Amino acid sequence: MIDIHSHILPGLDDGAKTIEESIAIAEEAVSEGITKMVATPHHHHPSFPLLDGSHLHDAVAELNQEFEKQRIPLTVLPGQEIRLYGDIQSDLASGASLSLGNSKYVLVEFPSNDIPVYTSRLFYDLGSQGYIPVIAHPERNKVIMDSPNKLYELIKNGALAQLTSSSLTGYFGKDIQKLSEQLMEASLVHVIASDVHNTANRTLRMREAYAYVEERFDSNLMYEYQENARLMIENKHIYLNPPERVGKKKKKLFGFF
Ligand code: FE
Repeated sequence: MIDIHSHILPGLDDGAKTIEESIAIAEEAVSEGITKMVATPHHHHPSFPLLDGSHLHDAVAELNQEFEKQRIPLTVLPGQEIRLYGDIQSDLASGASLSLGNSKYVLVEFPSNDIPVYTSRLFYDLGSQGYIPVIAHPERNKVIMDSPNKLYELIKNGALAQLTSSSLTGYFGKDIQKLSEQLMEASLVHVIASDVHNTANRTLRMREAYAYVEERFDSNLMYEYQENARLMIENKHIYLNPPERVGKKKKKLFGFF
């Protein structure tokens, strides 16, 4: 299994603080069956220092070396969780911002209480450069909680969405769990990731989340999410179902993107 959203790199943000904590996350990931993890430290987030993406390659290489030394079979790939800002495209081109494992897929985060007014325009511009925005945990955004069809509009226009395992398994409360299921039913979710920060409270819960998908939905959808994570880091087309408005009954159709 592949996890495309994690804060496993030590000492950069509110994720792992030390290399020991990174190792603890890696061991837990391996025990859940994860073989590859994209490190996505916060980028352009107001709470954390701005770190140019070019600095992350060494940090990723060092962590991989440490895992090899300790015989932990987990490979970390470079990435970022990019808080929406105006210069994403030029920064992606220069390497100051990073996509997911050098693919065309870019993990973007909205402020918790807002969808910036320029989002559609920025997504359109990213698309015209060949990038595909993947919205991190839309189920935790206040505007989408109040009006889930705001997400529908973005997905209809080509964006993708990443649901967080802890949202689906109920860790963030019943409302977020219910919204997670509604977004899945409307085909507004394309991939599940952990957004792991530590091994205490913001943990992986990937195995639990996939088991939940299989139990409450079906195993096809579970495999589709698992495949999509792999296809993203391999820079390939992912499985896509036509998005529906939240609340409508969806037709089960599969297609390629
Ligand atoms: Fe995150």
